[in-house]
Amino acid sequence: MPEEISSKESSTTIFVPDTSAILTGKIDIYSLNSIVPESVLNEIRKGKESRIYNDGLHILKTATPTHQSVEIVREAAKSSGDISFLSSTDIDVIAIALEVKGVILSDDYSLQNVASKLNIAFKPCGLKGIEKQIKWEFRCKACGLRRRERVEFCPVCGHVMTRYPVQKQ
Ligand SMILES: [Zn+2]
Repeated sequence: MPEEISSKESSTTIFVPDTSAILTGKIDIYSLNSIVPESVLNEIRKGKESRIYNDGLHILKTATPTHQSVEIVREAAKSSGDISFLSSTDIDVIAIALEVKGVILSDDYSLQNVASKLNIAFKPCGLKGIEKQIKWEFRCKACGLRRRERVEFCPVCGHVMTRYPVQKQ
């Protein structure tokens, strides 16, 4: 769950996540008060990460936006110039948030832009935050020595050191 979502807020607000918001794994989609667009769910089912979610996806509350709210969003996206950057799934996310007065969870700039045009609240999910948090480690493939600081050659056996990302705890 993004840090900006307080526990009080998450109990009263309906969140509408886009596909990548769910796939970041930063959102606990099962405990969040959310409505997931049917098209988002379909994208997750098709994706390679689907095995992580397949077991529980059916418990999520889903919705399909009305034709009318999709048209409102499409018109707003046309006038802001974002229409060519939005997928039909993106439009569904905005349309459902419009219908339920929900808060969109997305890092997509065009999606956020159209949301603000329609006075829909949104929260980024911190994909960029995740990138910043990557720590690197240097490993020797020959003898297995690990160093946190950058070294070109292994001080033990002289082999070239290789950089690996280390998951931040
Ligand atoms: Zn070595």
